[in-house]
Amino acid sequence: MPPSFDVRLDDLTGARAESREAAQDSDSILAGPPSELGVNKSPTRQNQRYGDDASPTRQSQHHGDGAWSTHPVLGDERTFYIETFGCQMNVHDSEKVAGVLLGRGYQQVETVDAAKLVFYNTCSIREKAAQKVFSRLGEFRKHPDHGKVIGVLGCVAQQEGEEIFERAPWVSLVCGSASYSKLPTLLAQLEAGNRRVTGLDTDTDETFETEMTRRDNPFRAYLTIIEGCDKSCSYCVVPYTRGPERSRSSASVLEEVRKLAGAGYSEIQLLGQTVNSYRDPAPRGKTFAELLVTVAAVPGIRRVRFTTSHPRDFGRDIVEAIDSVPALCDHVHLPVQSGSTRVLRAMQRTYTREEYLEKIALIRSARRPISVTSDIIVGFPGETEQDVAETLSLLDAAQYDGVFAFQYSPRPNTASLQMGDSIPEEEKGRRLAIVQDRQREIQVARNNELVGQTFEVLVDGASRRPGQWTGRSSSNRILNFSSPRSDLLGQYIQVRATGASPNSLVGEQII
Ligand code: SAM
Ligand code: SF4
Repeated sequence: MPPSFDVRLDDLTGARAESREAAQDSDSILAGPPSELGVNKSPTRQNQRYGDDASPTRQSQHHGDGAWSTHPVLGDERTFYIETFGCQMNVHDSEKVAGVLLGRGYQQVETVDAAKLVFYNTCSIREKAAQKVFSRLGEFRKHPDHGKVIGVLGCVAQQEGEEIFERAPWVSLVCGSASYSKLPTLLAQLEAGNRRVTGLDTDTDETFETEMTRRDNPFRAYLTIIEGCDKSCSYCVVPYTRGPERSRSSASVLEEVRKLAGAGYSEIQLLGQTVNSYRDPAPRGKTFAELLVTVAAVPGIRRVRFTTSHPRDFGRDIVEAIDSVPALCDHVHLPVQSGSTRVLRAMQRTYTREEYLEKIALIRSARRPISVTSDIIVGFPGETEQDVAETLSLLDAAQYDGVFAFQYSPRPNTASLQMGDSIPEEEKGRRLAIVQDRQREIQVARNNELVGQTFEVLVDGASRRPGQWTGRSSSNRILNFSSPRSDLLGQYIQVRATGASPNSLVGEQII
């Protein structure tokens, strides 16, 4: 999800954290930037497995009935640390969780050591992602007197449930994302001295709305408009861990956008696992395309992004909205997963290769160029050489501006688990490399064509080297550029591209 188009794409495609995770899994062509969220990337820590040093036998030896003998209570000490894994929706959920905690008088700290309350907001989309939290939890076993209250949030919490208490008895809170609206109650229970609290329902109609959200980025605000997922892709754990689709009302979305604009945010990124499946719960509510147009019309808002779009629900009205409203960013993340109709059917993706390519043709027919990015899974059970060849030919046909490619990872509670995991890991790695190489060639060619063009860039970073800046175009390209000015952060400026790499452009400010 560098300075590279790929790396920064994670921000727009739904996950800076996704790219970080992908980089750690070595699955994606998009190697991620150092974490902004404090994920410790030391190889020692990543390689630890919870199971290596915390078997149930050892727990019972040390603690008799399995209770953690030094189980700490929260008391009045109100500091918290939160570490986030996974997609951009998780990143934004953590911002909201932080808002809930700040609203209760907690203070956020930068390290586990400085915190009384430690939260891990977890991801279980691929096995390696899910293992990371157990690696983190395993560290507390070595320090039984740590005195901290530990909480596990997100998809691993939902997937493992109370089993987490068995595997890591020092954990006090386990809460899946569908139950985040209960967090204030759960926190109150912890503050009252309860040692184990859970929020694991997924049969809720509620969305997670908070009075206060602590946002990480001063210019771009994330806003979840639809939670959960009603699709049933055979490989995917999300419908199980995040529950059914729930859309926020357009009135509440707009109220928040107006507040964000008032607070100085000029770019809004609307989030959802299938953001374009949005259904306004209000009578005669807005379609997704109408919501996009209305959000873009809020005074002070200069850019509106949205991710991730599902091909089945992607219609002409979205392209027409982008065409007619300049504030709607000219970028669509439209994951295909495979170029083979046979594999797409086994994945239960609900479209064929041809139907997908029709959506791409629709996007390419827009009056202004719209950049398109995608996700690909290689090594799905039963995938043949011919299927891989079809994925490569789809890359040629689609001419993506960026791709996140992943090796298939069997997940609990998914339909494809029954199909086995027939492609050896080494072969998955080979297929991944082939896909990445082809896509890199495509990006080199596409980016070279952009040299000489001028882009409006929102400046979001300064290099250590004086006069060097980084920012992002409406199409979500990263531009690393030079400027003699010293006050550019948060500004929209014109940059001419003077060079290209597979993942980014270099340029200079036009003054
Ligand atoms: N809702 C989005 C969609 O439908 O495209 C994607 C959500 S998922 C967080 C992000 C990506 O992870 C997917 O597009 C898919 O490529 C990948 N993914 C999901 N499950 C996977 C699995 N079991 N193994 C490998 N990659 C997986
Ligand atoms: Fe998972 Fe498919 Fe839902 Fe995306 S649309 S979250 S891949 S089930």
